[in-house]
Amino acid sequence: VSIIRISGSNCLQAGQMLVQNAQQRQLIKGMNNSQVQDYLNLKNRYAHFKKLYSLIDPTVSPQNQSFQKQDLIYQQIDQGIFMYFQGPKSYTGEDIVEMHIHGSRALQKKVLLELSQLNNFRLADPGEFTKRAMINNKLDLLEVEGLADLLNSETESQRVQSTQQFLGKSSQILEDWRFQLIRALAHAEAFIDFESDQDDVEFNILGKTQENVQQVIKDINEQLSDRNRGEILRDGMKISIIGKPNAGKSTLLNCLAKKDIAIVSEIPGTTRDALSVSLNISGFPILLYDTAGIRQTKDVIEEKGVNKALQHARESDLNIWIIDIDDVIKQADGSYIVQDIKEISEILESNQNTLIFINKIDKVNSQKEITDITIRDKKFKIDGQISAQHNQNINSLLDKLTKKINERLDITDGIMSSGTISIITQTRHRLELQKCLEHLEIFSRNKQNLPVDIVCEELRQAVNCIGRITGRVDVEEVLDVLFSEFCIGK
Ligand code: GDP
Repeated sequence: VSIIRISGSNCLQAGQMLVQNAQQRQLIKGMNNSQVQDYLNLKNRYAHFKKLYSLIDPTVSPQNQSFQKQDLIYQQIDQGIFMYFQGPKSYTGEDIVEMHIHGSRALQKKVLLELSQLNNFRLADPGEFTKRAMINNKLDLLEVEGLADLLNSETESQRVQSTQQFLGKSSQILEDWRFQLIRALAHAEAFIDFESDQDDVEFNILGKTQENVQQVIKDINEQLSDRNRGEILRDGMKISIIGKPNAGKSTLLNCLAKKDIAIVSEIPGTTRDALSVSLNISGFPILLYDTAGIRQTKDVIEEKGVNKALQHARESDLNIWIIDIDDVIKQADGSYIVQDIKEISEILESNQNTLIFINKIDKVNSQKEITDITIRDKKFKIDGQISAQHNQNINSLLDKLTKKINERLDITDGIMSSGTISIITQTRHRLELQKCLEHLEIFSRNKQNLPVDIVCEELRQAVNCIGRITGRVDVEEVLDVLFSEFCIGK
């Protein structure tokens, strides 16, 4: 089924397609939506089963002087559902018509051609329905962004997160903060108007507003310290496979991509650059990077690759360090060491989010029980032993990875049951909340004991920062970018 949706004050002109008589069509032409609704006996929000008609020869134009109305011959082109949603109870908030026709491209073309010949009918711009919904206060900016994310979502965690944003859960929290701050502002302003000559009252009133403001500061701080959970869920978690050359990094990437986890896309870099694939691991969006082998080198180009690999490892949300089993040496005391690679051990020490796997276990006859390895007198726990080439223990690696991803995102009971909502899903939200916090802190500390009206300005700025996230205040430039990237017509 194709659904053709028409929004606007003249959308019921489409009702002309329900009649097969030139005179009736002419009559409808002179009517507004409400008159057409009566004339065609269309109930609001009711699915009418209707026949659709078109002129046999669409080149015959009613504007033509020599045109004889009675000469026109109409033919039925389809039958389907015709619905009318009277505004404001509609998606865009305007009057809307929906025609559910058969899902044929030729038929779609035919109906669109027929509609395009009606006055003031044109194709919607990308995202125009949603834009109108936003202008008519049906959705706020955060909800629109949530919808765009839902449409682009590829994994379960992305679906869950974008849905809660689209359904207004995040907006509700932000609106609550905004309301608290506006109330504090109103108190403070009332005080400026009436009591400004009494210093002790000033102190008391500001003391009261401070309580509200402190709570908002605490809540915002909590959101800002979410370790980028929302952004990671939206854009994908960066995981780099690191290790010496020939440890089996590319083999592991291929092996993981071939497992029953869906590859979404493949983004090749230059040969020495990091190569990445988008994967869906246990419902989480993952950007898995295969990096250049890390070793000391005099080759300038290779060195660039090595530096890039190290940079990836530092910036990644998680790392998987692959060690060739041949590089693991048993000591006399029974412990195991690996040849030191200074840079890797530095990363291991600085980034707790690194899983260590020994690869190529198929090369040894009997698998040794290695629980930890020593690098520069420091012990590191081994997370497992695999054979990337022979697909050995890869499921266990995936389990460990999933556990680590959950830990990294502070998810304990699975995403669905996790109570905390990440409001911040884009850098834009984070920047506005940071700015908001700065203003609130100036207001609440008022270290220089500035007059109330001056510190109130900080509160006002803080309110505006939140307003910009939900699109209540000056967000023109955000809208332009957002809607230009929206799916056509959504
Ligand atoms: P990278 O340089 O770390 O990306 O290593 P590659 O994935 O290119 O692998 C280097 C060599 O090790 C290749 O010849 C692979 O076939 C081999 N190799 C990778 N994984 C395994 C494994 O699990 N077992 C064995 N025996 N060889 C492997």
